[in-house]
Amino acid sequence: MSNDGRRNVGLEHKFEPLQDRFGRVARKLRVSVTDRCNFRCNFCMPVKPVWLPKSEILTYEEIARIARILAGMGVTKIRLSGGEPLMRRDLDILVAMLKEIPEVKTIAMTTNGFHLAEMAERLKRAGLDGVTVSLHSLKPERYEEVVGRKGVFERVTEGLKVAREVGFNPVKVNVVVIRGCNDDEILDFAELARKSNLTVRFIEYMPFDGRKFWRPELLVSGEEILQVIESIYPLVPLPREHGSTAQVYRFADGVEGDIGVITSMTSPFCSDCDRIRLTADGKIVPCMFSRDEYDVKSLLRSGATDEEIASFIRDAFYRKFAGVESLLREHKTIAHVRPMYQLGG
Ligand code: SAM
Ligand code: SF4
Repeated sequence: MSNDGRRNVGLEHKFEPLQDRFGRVARKLRVSVTDRCNFRCNFCMPVKPVWLPKSEILTYEEIARIARILAGMGVTKIRLSGGEPLMRRDLDILVAMLKEIPEVKTIAMTTNGFHLAEMAERLKRAGLDGVTVSLHSLKPERYEEVVGRKGVFERVTEGLKVAREVGFNPVKVNVVVIRGCNDDEILDFAELARKSNLTVRFIEYMPFDGRKFWRPELLVSGEEILQVIESIYPLVPLPREHGSTAQVYRFADGVEGDIGVITSMTSPFCSDCDRIRLTADGKIVPCMFSRDEYDVKSLLRSGATDEEIASFIRDAFYRKFAGVESLLREHKTIAHVRPMYQLGG
């Protein structure tokens, strides 16, 4: 037992581990800290989003409580996302609260980078480990067209630079690849990875957009992305980390920098998925591809004990949906009620 009377987690959890009906165990939590965003990426946001009322959004204390309970069930990694996580004021306060949870080994954040330069130092000091910046084009005009906001490219790339300077490890770049939009920049991004010793992760475009813009023809598969890169820079796959959404490659010529492909559409890695999601309005979402969500906020706000909340989450997670293949088999389509900005991608 530790000083505070808790069991020595790692050997034994405070609550029973989170395991679904297929034997998959949750180790990673993705938290959408807000649905709000200052960008309008055309593959994500509706043109006129309707935001959740502030009263529906979990407070930092509520997020930290759920995280603590989940950590007591085996979760060791947390990723903060959104919406745009840095739209939430003083996010470093939440990071510091999460950092106090002894079982949590890493905390990372996915951001559009707009507020990163000014927040990086504070977030690092609070204990944030890694940062992923979404950057969908290296051409300023095109980038600004995609994200629906003018005059932001330099600010975002500055955020990326500052994130490296303050020592985040890792710093990654996410690129959603869309045919006819930015698929001609795949090699440029590979070169950015080589030149700047970054991990660039190419994400297959998923139909989770608020604009219903997605069409199968717009999807560029991970395989195609790799072919384009390998035509110039041969790649060597690295062993895939258990539960990872990405297959990562290094360059065969030994130049530093990595390439990752997130093949959620064509080769989704559902069988060892170890993620659980918490939405900004306090819903537990065991799988982003399913419509199932479980309202933990009501329980939280009605005075439930940690044990009651743990048991609620365990029941929800147990029912986790098998994966994308079964969705296609049963429903012939991949669709979701919530776009990515509400899910916390
Ligand atoms: N606002 C932050 C950002 O853009 O990085 C965090 C939230 S965003 C929803 C999380 C990630 O999901 C980003 O890398 C974004 O590019 C990606 N994303 C959003 N919509 C997507 C879609 N329809 N298909 C694939 N990835 C998507
Ligand atoms: Fe905002 Fe991120 Fe969605 Fe772009 S991808 S609209 S930055 S939440």
